[in-house]
Amino acid sequence: MYPAPPFNKQPQEVPGLASKMDPVPDHGEKSYKGSGRLAGRRALITGGDSGIGRAAAIAYAREGADVVIGYLPQEQSDADEVLKLIEEAGSKGFGIPGDITSREFCETLVAQTVEKLGGIDILVNNAGHQQAVDSLLDISPEAFDVTMKTNIYAPFWITKAALPHLEPGSVIISTSSVQAYDPSENLFDYAQTKAANVAFVKSLAKQLGPKGIRVNGVAPGPVWTPLQTSGGQPQDAIVEFGKATPLGRPGQPAELASIYVQLADGSASYATGQIYGAAGGNGHP
Ligand code: NAD
Ligand code: MG
Repeated sequence: MYPAPPFNKQPQEVPGLASKMDPVPDHGEKSYKGSGRLAGRRALITGGDSGIGRAAAIAYAREGADVVIGYLPQEQSDADEVLKLIEEAGSKGFGIPGDITSREFCETLVAQTVEKLGGIDILVNNAGHQQAVDSLLDISPEAFDVTMKTNIYAPFWITKAALPHLEPGSVIISTSSVQAYDPSENLFDYAQTKAANVAFVKSLAKQLGPKGIRVNGVAPGPVWTPLQTSGGQPQDAIVEFGKATPLGRPGQPAELASIYVQLADGSASYATGQIYGAAGGNGHP
């Protein structure tokens, strides 16, 4: 159904653009069909400019939700493509660029989302930072910090700012990874953050269950996104990316969109504290 390895080497600077990938990822631009499952809902999706977050943003808009996407300023051109698709779906879409390794920006991101949408019912903590490094000895304190700040601190800061706005029936969704369960030797710091995302979901689900707020996560396997081609994998591994899965190829972001819709939809009202896998046949959960 979708492109399989071998892929061309294609290094980009972090955070990378989806538009510059070869082949360009499928985020469901031409395929996702909505059926009003999220009508009237208001979503904030971090990292919604590209990859898995973009696929969720397109799907949410076509399901009737208004959507704010967060992203880095360097990603404005990717974000503009998403915002156009949200508008074409008949929903409101806003982009709020900024760096979530800053606590202050995380608080601004939530405050501006509430201002633009009139509230938040769906928070998707999806932005992430991943750099492959062979040896722990070569991870600088600064690089370690960026991974921790982006993947652990930012979801904490953003969720803390959003929580006072979340009414019963709201949902929080985290993008974790198979790396939480079966970490690669060259993703030592990243894998720890993705395990932290699982604990975030499972603890917070218990804390917020009595308030009627559901908290779930997604653990993708290899998905064809700029995160991977801009240093998330060594370029040699990009050539073979996804080959080791039983499906023999990476997933496309579009193939995960329905999971994010399902978790946001009130019809999944008994699902909380769960991690949903999408890994092409390998890994956990
Ligand atoms: P992606 O590069 O398309 O998305 C990641 C986004 O994170 C970027 O678009 C960027 O906007 C955002 N981001 C990164 N650093 C930021 C910062 N400092 N401030 C603001 N935004 C920042 O790649 P993706 O693969 O779709 O990544 C989405 C999530 O999926 C990440 O949490 C990643 O860990 C997770 N994930 C990806 C894979 C995969 O194979 N692609 C597998 C498992 C988990
Ligand atoms: Mg991006």
